[in-house]
Amino acid sequence: MKIREIEVYQVDLPYAGGTYKLSGEHSYSSFDATLVCLKADNGLQGWGESTPFGANYIASHARGVRAGIAEMADSLLGRDPRQVDRINETMDQVLTGHLHAKTAIDVACWDLFGKAVGMPVCELLGGSTDQPMPVIDSTHAGDPDDMRQRVATTRAQGYIGHSIKVGASAAEGGPMLDAARIEASLADAQPGEFFLVDCNGGLSVEHVLRMLNLLPKGLDFMLEAPCATWRETLSLRRRTSVPITFDELATDDASIMQLIGEDAAEGIGLKISKTGGLTRGRRQRDMCLSAGLTLSVQETWGSQVAFAALAHLGQTVPPQALRCILDVREMATKVTADFDAPLVNGGILVPDRPGLGIEIRRDVLAAPVARYR
Ligand SMILES: [Mg+2]
Repeated sequence: MKIREIEVYQVDLPYAGGTYKLSGEHSYSSFDATLVCLKADNGLQGWGESTPFGANYIASHARGVRAGIAEMADSLLGRDPRQVDRINETMDQVLTGHLHAKTAIDVACWDLFGKAVGMPVCELLGGSTDQPMPVIDSTHAGDPDDMRQRVATTRAQGYIGHSIKVGASAAEGGPMLDAARIEASLADAQPGEFFLVDCNGGLSVEHVLRMLNLLPKGLDFMLEAPCATWRETLSLRRRTSVPITFDELATDDASIMQLIGEDAAEGIGLKISKTGGLTRGRRQRDMCLSAGLTLSVQETWGSQVAFAALAHLGQTVPPQALRCILDVREMATKVTADFDAPLVNGGILVPDRPGLGIEIRRDVLAAPVARYR
């Protein structure tokens, strides 16, 4: 089995909630997705997606995805997509870093691998736990009462996890507004629910400590990505008992090894396009499990193709270590593929179909923006 052709598609994904706000006064209304179709010499097609969270979240951006694919494409033609580790070595040999560009290719290889052997990707990644995966929402920063209402809405939809975005500037209300956001969002917390307070690496140690000091005792949550740097995060960690989970600072094998070595956090948000795809995601999953860290399996952003990839990896994480998965499908107004994985009774199971188990909606895609063969 050989890769005969690579097609690249560009799709705009408008945010379903209007404007998405988080720390650092960053706001977003639409996301630029890249979908890749790998065509094999036996007629099978594999799909992958990479959708960065704008250009200022981590070191990745949408046009970089497509430029990176252009850089790597020739070296991938003629290669066996089922040899996922060898494919990644080749990509690393021709392009250093740029994991977000490698993601769409890597995921498409896994989709082809699954279709070639007639098995779902999660079975190839180690086997499905067959346990429904809890789902987390993404509650962007705003008025505290409005955030409480939005949490109530996703709770009613069956979400067990809630990601509360904070990061008010001094002019907006600083730590006092952020503390009010946390208190309001957790006001109706139910047994079994899970709360992340996500600072997106945008707060100073001072801001976080002031925010925490303003909170009443007994609120149950993890702090996600409180600060931009390791130094600040480790400094904060020495002075609070609130559990910490990493996101923006956990981007590759080396950073996860450092996290474990320095005992810097209790968990990570593993995002497929941040990690570089499912091959690296599988390895980082195992590193975290070995160290006793918990995992939220997520994506930076994306449509049904990106969601299918993260769901297959999440499906292989033992339930006691899997905090949640992020259903990015709910965040965009456009549907790029059919993926039969509904949220039922607070959980999602991936479908028992070969590969990612998706059906691409060709009518949503325009002509390819690039084609390599
Ligand atoms: Mg995060």
